[in-house]
Amino acid sequence: MSTIFSKIINREIPADIVYESENVLAFKDIRPQAPVHILIIPKTEIPKVTDIKGKEHAELLGEMFDAANKIASDLGIAEDGFRLVFNCGNNGGQEVYHLHMHLLGGRKMNWPPG
Ligand code: 5GP
Repeated sequence: MSTIFSKIINREIPADIVYESENVLAFKDIRPQAPVHILIIPKTEIPKVTDIKGKEHAELLGEMFDAANKIASDLGIAEDGFRLVFNCGNNGGQEVYHLHMHLLGGRKMNWPPG
């Protein structure tokens, strides 16, 4: 089922896009939890982590990590470090069922997470 992120991909609703390639889109989270908070998504609809098939999606996931590294570098947080998060399902705190990687940085992250 399509989510709000499909609407962002299709430019039906606005987003602050920081990176785009043929298969991947990245934009600023509307409710940032850190000075840098970017969502990196595949353009294809994969609802959540448990829908990932390693062999089928390996290249796409690689592209998402490449995008994260490029964005972190472009935004000047690569050297100090950052956090990448995939929330999965109810207990994982997933709100939008279109796979997304959170890129969080610009401050020291806490551990354990809440
Ligand atoms: P989740 O909790 O599913 O891992 O993360 C979903 C994220 O999407 C949340 O951090 C939330 O703030 C963000 N989000 C939800 N709706 C929108 C939207 O319309 N635009 C943007 N840019 N971010 C959104």
